[in-house]
Amino acid sequence: SSDQTQSLSKTSFKFFGLGGSNEVGRSCHILQYKGKTVMLDAGIHPAHQGLASLPFYDEFDLSTVDVLLISHFHLDHAASLPYVMQRTNFRGRVFMTHPTKAIYRWLLSDFVKVTSIGSSGSTDKDENLYSDEDLAKSFDRIETIDFHSTTDVNGIKFTAFHAGHVLGAAMFQLEIAGLKTLFTGDYSREIDRHLNSAEVPPSSSDILIVESTFGTATHEPRVNREKKLTQLIHSTVLRGGRVLLPVFALGRAQEIMLILDEFWSKHSEELGNGQVPIFYASNLARKCMGVFQTYVNMMNDDIRKKFRDSQSNPFIFKNISYLKNLDDFQDFGPSVMLASPGMLQNGISRDLLEKWCPDNKNLVLITGYSVEGTMAKYIMLEPDTIPSVNNPEVNIPRRCQIEEISFAAHVDFRENLEFMEKIGARNVILVHGESNPMGRLKSALLSNFASLKGTEDEVHVFNPRNCVVVELEFSGIKVAK
Ligand SMILES: [Zn+2]
Repeated sequence: SSDQTQSLSKTSFKFFGLGGSNEVGRSCHILQYKGKTVMLDAGIHPAHQGLASLPFYDEFDLSTVDVLLISHFHLDHAASLPYVMQRTNFRGRVFMTHPTKAIYRWLLSDFVKVTSIGSSGSTDKDENLYSDEDLAKSFDRIETIDFHSTTDVNGIKFTAFHAGHVLGAAMFQLEIAGLKTLFTGDYSREIDRHLNSAEVPPSSSDILIVESTFGTATHEPRVNREKKLTQLIHSTVLRGGRVLLPVFALGRAQEIMLILDEFWSKHSEELGNGQVPIFYASNLARKCMGVFQTYVNMMNDDIRKKFRDSQSNPFIFKNISYLKNLDDFQDFGPSVMLASPGMLQNGISRDLLEKWCPDNKNLVLITGYSVEGTMAKYIMLEPDTIPSVNNPEVNIPRRCQIEEISFAAHVDFRENLEFMEKIGARNVILVHGESNPMGRLKSALLSNFASLKGTEDEVHVFNPRNCVVVELEFSGIKVAK
């Protein structure tokens, strides 16, 4: 609004969410300070299609962006990047880590295929967000950065730190004219089977932009979740059922595979040698495993030690076979299927859901975070029927068991709070959470920091909606408005 514009002074810091504010999906945030403009992430919303899945790019002049940083390869953080680079007036520089760029390439070419409208004719071509050609052109212009090394673009300094979550995921600490901002992207602090968990940057930050996916919820300890996961799958296949694990092609799927491959090896008499096969079904299976096998050196000590000790790559699984599609899949007897996409919107996982959900012996096990408006979120309500994706008029009975065990690798409340206390920023901007969990997190944070209220160290917490400006004044003594 004009009020906000008039009150802008040289010392004011502006945050503006084009997407991913009070929602999970289409993450994109704009920061402005002292004439510099930084854009954080460029995702799509997985519950929407075409232009409706984009952040609100029309609400901001993208030609003013100096630097665009991509935190990780997940679609809700990276999938609108080719659109931004090829189909808008954006002309800034784009940075991501090496593994993110390697995976981005395969992931988005699959995304183009899956979301392509009218690929057989040219009539609906304009509905497509971008083409393979756009993707290839954007790829050449993306610059890569190493963890822990600082880049300076015309006075905008930024450094990538490990964020956990998925391979290549980074937190960015930005510094413009002495003002420091930390953007977490999606992050996890729990010890993982293969990833380094998120680290605390050595220098403090004035502003923290932090995810709020799980709000004030608490995760069960990891050992318990692993045990539950393997027991649930074990008992299902013993009674002759099929297990469907909808997973995003890459990232957390590899963590689940490490767990299952180990469990199958320990129970090889019962499950091994193809008695109960495990499949990883994705267009991207082979290409993506290649990337994982290449970047073992960027993972945690634990997995690198296994790699050294056994002299064999931990991502070459003994008990898991790859399927490119379902054409060659012989569906006889119990099996375990990790299939993408993770939210059952369409594709292989949706086809198997529709095939297997009428049988009460079968199990659908959700391990990721399910965004509002997707089938994965809907199925957890245990509906009597689900609509067929190819013909919404047809309802399919749903009798299979539905369970959720989270391996989404986002911080829970305790982990998030502990991290915030370590960062010590006096201004906290919450992003990447649905309104209710985000609102509860804000209240919990304010009461946690209540004793500092009115002092110089008071912590200000913001939960803005999309396209609402947060303005902070920094002059002399840093005081937030
Ligand atoms: Zn993510």
